[in-house]
Amino acid sequence: MSRPSTQAVPPLQDKDVKINIVGAGVFGLSTAIHLAQRGYKRVTIFDKQPYHESRYSYFNGCDAASADMNKIFRSAYGGQTEYQSLSIEAFEAWNQWNAEIASGEVPPGMTKDDKVFVNNGNLSLTDKPSLPPFELATVRNMHEAGFPDSQLITYDPSHVKIATERGLGFAIDPFDRQKRGQEYLGVLDTTGGTTLADKACFFALYKAERLGVRTVFGPTLGAFESFLRADGEIVGIRTLDGKSHYSGRTIIACGGWTPTLLPELDSVCETTAGSVAIMKLPTDLARRYSAKNFPSWMYKMRDGAEGGLYGFPATSEGYMKIGYRGTKYTNPKVQKDGRERSVPVTRYTEAEQIVDQIPTQALAVIKQFIADFLPDLPANGVNIDMTRLCWYTDSWDNHFVIDHVPEHKNVLVASAGSGHAFKYLPNIGAWVADVLEGKGLDRQLIRSWQWRTRPDQEDRIINELMQGSAGRRSLKKTELSTPRHLKLRQTANL
Ligand SMILES: Cc1cc2nc3c(=O)[nH]c(=O)nc-3n(C[C@H](O)[C@H](O)[C@H](O)COP(=O)(O)OP(=O)(O)OC[C@H]3O[C@@H](n4cnc5c(N)ncnc54)[C@H](O)[C@@H]3O)c2cc1C
Repeated sequence: MSRPSTQAVPPLQDKDVKINIVGAGVFGLSTAIHLAQRGYKRVTIFDKQPYHESRYSYFNGCDAASADMNKIFRSAYGGQTEYQSLSIEAFEAWNQWNAEIASGEVPPGMTKDDKVFVNNGNLSLTDKPSLPPFELATVRNMHEAGFPDSQLITYDPSHVKIATERGLGFAIDPFDRQKRGQEYLGVLDTTGGTTLADKACFFALYKAERLGVRTVFGPTLGAFESFLRADGEIVGIRTLDGKSHYSGRTIIACGGWTPTLLPELDSVCETTAGSVAIMKLPTDLARRYSAKNFPSWMYKMRDGAEGGLYGFPATSEGYMKIGYRGTKYTNPKVQKDGRERSVPVTRYTEAEQIVDQIPTQALAVIKQFIADFLPDLPANGVNIDMTRLCWYTDSWDNHFVIDHVPEHKNVLVASAGSGHAFKYLPNIGAWVADVLEGKGLDRQLIRSWQWRTRPDQEDRIINELMQGSAGRRSLKKTELSTPRHLKLRQTANL
């Protein structure tokens, strides 16, 4: 395959080369593990978060997309069979990680009874009278890939039987809609389920360190400040403590912070906020909605601002999380170069007033869903306890960006998870390592992840970029929630 001239980079071969990875989220962790497994001896991960202490917990000050209670795993990718295959590869790897944990290979604070992936199914529901084309394509494509009974249609009695035989009967109508005389049409992905994200990242960090990866973490020690340059090349990074860290290759994997660190990405991706509501359930409801009885789910996922909902079983601590991505918001700020760029703002961002309130529009959709699908929550006095803005890095076409930065052959960017990369924590690093080593570059996914600029043809664009403060999705233009909005009895009457 011919690669753009800016990316004609000599493949990585020298196992002694120093490699700096900036960012210890999904992309950084996975890359570190796979490089170390391939024999690279001098890999260091930098992060501004003190992850050894905070253990990737949102409650302990972590605000990366990867640092979360849970994320959905699914193989269901409609017509995008290349991501379906990547998920099938990841499914094996998640089960392998669970097996390693069960054998006692765990960091302090985890036990062999912990799991990082629960195969409790992922249910995709619609409010339409028939299944949307995406779901039908998934059923067909998983069948053709050799998984004939993995996608089960909720209204098909023979599929309900299969789900029951597999111990996933609860996941066909987990909201008890039928009992209330309501519709529950959807597809249950039986390969799907729930990843325990914070625990999985902490386990990945442990794996990386066991393989010899070094870490430099902390708000000054580990924070990227600038690139080091010599003779026009980038030769490492400087951290906020003023230290220089020279390297042969630098990998930038800073999630939502990546576009501000690499403004070259302006026409490729942008950071946007998803809205999340967290409820602490009383013990009986937490048991009712635990992963033993309840799948991860999605509702009207591709139906615009009134849809884009997803959620999870209650955690072992009783927290239930519901997310909304029907509208993804931006936080445009003027940068040093005079351009406006969206930057993450979270509960933990210094010098910001926001405490992770979410837009009332997002909250209204979430509350309407709870009123329609989870009426026992408000009936039992449950309210929303906490909200969170969680930052995506969206490319214009929803594909990741895994490629060398034009004009900087020593720098590779691994980012633009576009709302779906967590599930690839155990395996995406192998693909990043392949790009670095120049292997299999003609594979469809690797081609999709190449550096690319936003095209002129509007019909190819999935996510609009860089609309700035004039754009309708700017947080500045959006009404944000107050504690009064978090009461569930008010349903959607905001
Ligand atoms: C709301 C939401 C829901 C999602 N749901 C799912 C899902 O259900 N299933 C799924 O598969 N995927 C999901 N995703 C996508 C997935 O979470 C992301 O694709 C993935 O976590 C991104 O990982 P990352 O490594 O790119 O970024 P991040 O996880 O954001 O990590 C970036 C790291 O870089 C560090 N960093 C930033 N700036 C600096 C600096 N200057 N110096 C040093 N370190 C720095 C940060 O501290 C952080 O640790 C979701 C994403 C969001 C936002």
